[in-house]
Amino acid sequence: MKPLFKFFLILGVGTILFFRCGRDHPSLPDPDDRIPKKVVIKPNDFLSGENYDQLTVEVASVQGYEPTDEALNNLKAFLESRLNKNGGIGLVPASIPSPGKAAYSLDDIKKIEQEYRTLFSDPEEKKLTAWFFFADADYAENEGDSKALGIAYGPASMVIFEKTVREFSGGRGQPSTPVLETTVAEHEFGHILGLVNNGTNMVVNHQDVTNGKHCNNQDCLMYWAAEHSGPVINFLTGGKIPSLDQNCLNDLKNNGGK
Ligand SMILES: [Zn+2]
Ligand SMILES: [Zn+2]
Repeated sequence: MKPLFKFFLILGVGTILFFRCGRDHPSLPDPDDRIPKKVVIKPNDFLSGENYDQLTVEVASVQGYEPTDEALNNLKAFLESRLNKNGGIGLVPASIPSPGKAAYSLDDIKKIEQEYRTLFSDPEEKKLTAWFFFADADYAENEGDSKALGIAYGPASMVIFEKTVREFSGGRGQPSTPVLETTVAEHEFGHILGLVNNGTNMVVNHQDVTNGKHCNNQDCLMYWAAEHSGPVINFLTGGKIPSLDQNCLNDLKNNGGK
């Protein structure tokens, strides 16, 4: 090989390597790395203990619209039976003044969370949080006779229309208030856990597609009727809180749950 050719060969290879290395290892930090990353919560974060081993649920109620202790105890037991949280699961009640709304839009509900939520998830400490708002008015988007009893509207955010729940419970031919509160709260948390086909994959297909992210078994907690004032009366005849059926349980287990 001629010395001049050898020189250019080495120069060429060197230049290629230099630019490749330069691209792979930028000397200045990427500006995106200096901005704190927004924590993205997935159903698996609730179900498994891998990313988070402790859960705190902030339960904010408008004064006078607090859920019953019975419902909160039921919700805690439900979460403990399904989630792998060795560090424990706690419910923290909080009271907020009435925003004075005749009805709440989803936008109103999100604004209330922005204003009053005090607990946030911390991946470094493996601490996960969720938010419940117990509202003193109906949902603004209700249509016809049936009213919404609850909505899961974010990856860890839920609203229960407690005024509506009370209107449709505790009277003749109605379920008791703790039974209806428990049913709606557990159903909404079921959506946060990714049911049905809502971030947790189905082991076998059991989605009632006509009614969105719900289970096709009319005895299951994740049946669509659980969160609507009209159909829930028939759904809860007998006064028992529905449990998750085998298909829903299998989905949760398959995504890291108990
Ligand atoms: Zn639902
Ligand atoms: Zn089900």
